[in-house]
Amino acid sequence: MSPFFPLRFRQQFPLLNQREHTTSASDIIYFDNAATTQKSQQVITAQQHYYLNNNANVHRASHQLSAKATFDFEQTRLAVQQFIKAKYLEEIIWTKGASESINLVAQSLGRNLLKPGDEIVLSASEHHANIVPWQILAEQTGAVIKVLPINEQGIINITNLESIITTKTKIVACAHISNVLGRINPIEKIIARARAVNAISLIDGAQAIAHLPVNVQALGCDFYVFSAHKMYGPTGVGVLYGRKALLESMSPYQGGGEMIKSVSFNKPTTFNDLPFKFEAGTPNISGIIAFKAAITLMKTAFTNDIHSYEQQLASYCYQALAQIPQVEFIVQGQPDIALIAFSIKDHHNHDIASALDSYNIALRSGHHCAMPLMELLTINGCLRVSLAPYNTLAEIDYFIRCLKEIVTTQTDAHTEINTEIKTK
Ligand code: PMP
Repeated sequence: MSPFFPLRFRQQFPLLNQREHTTSASDIIYFDNAATTQKSQQVITAQQHYYLNNNANVHRASHQLSAKATFDFEQTRLAVQQFIKAKYLEEIIWTKGASESINLVAQSLGRNLLKPGDEIVLSASEHHANIVPWQILAEQTGAVIKVLPINEQGIINITNLESIITTKTKIVACAHISNVLGRINPIEKIIARARAVNAISLIDGAQAIAHLPVNVQALGCDFYVFSAHKMYGPTGVGVLYGRKALLESMSPYQGGGEMIKSVSFNKPTTFNDLPFKFEAGTPNISGIIAFKAAITLMKTAFTNDIHSYEQQLASYCYQALAQIPQVEFIVQGQPDIALIAFSIKDHHNHDIASALDSYNIALRSGHHCAMPLMELLTINGCLRVSLAPYNTLAEIDYFIRCLKEIVTTQTDAHTEINTEIKTK
């Protein structure tokens, strides 16, 4: 495998290169990549190129401009198919994000499939996007939600898989990697157990897709979902991979143009073939066309040794944080990707995040759209550093220096206030 050159990778992202890369406080240190990644110049150029040269609707008109837009649009579908190794092109459905992909499956498949008392199994560490659509479905159908626990390292605990995923289970949905815990879940075992009881499996790959090569056929899952914006692509573009036979058996999610074969007031409307049956209305054409550039970038990165560099970032940052006595990690052990959740003893997460922001360091604080997980861990929220391979060790050094300074200053201030209160 050829070496990965982080600075060469970084150079492709204009937002990170507005100034000369130094560790001065005027640089943006972007450590919120799990929320969304920065966009490469190729992605930005591709989107602009479409509007400047090819702007037309897709799949509709016979004119040349539409034919060109349709060709480019479908080329991205092909790129996604190859990227996740799906068997058929029509197994790739465009949505506006991972959330919409999950809602689509819940409504199109779940509403017909579930009866009162049937069970949907989720994990304790899911993002709201992989909880709420199932709660809505459970409310509509009378199905019941069961929860797989997590262990002390933050990984889905599969010790009692057989007693939780049973013949009553109709759907199993869990994240490949949690957006708070950064651990790779044993999804192969979960998918196999789902299959053994004839349950449908859906994997939320929103956090995994930019870090792990995904092979949906090898995984054997029924559905795999992700968003383009978490893998250097545009916002408003999502993917639903679904097994062809299942997608064919499902009714449409939304109605509108493009998803039909014929519409009449006198006979039933007939629906289009896959994948168009699930793509009502004008899609995010420019975003989908530009997404191809992000896939190309990722493919190149994966052929280089990007994984070792990500591991280096993860362990460097984790070890450095562990040296700060006030740091409390949310789960034990170093995460599998460079995504670390922690809090600072006796400090409010938002205060730390705002103080870091004043040093131009962007990271996330809050419940991270995982309130049930926060409830389980009996915390209100936490801080999250999520790194991408354009981040550097020098940025981590700067972040740690600032964090130490903030913690010391705020601790001194707290001590002063407490002493003042006590002496009053
Ligand atoms: N699942 C996980 C694990 C996520 O991290 C996110 C985004 N934070 C989502 C689902 C939802 O993705 P989107 O908002 O792009 O639909």
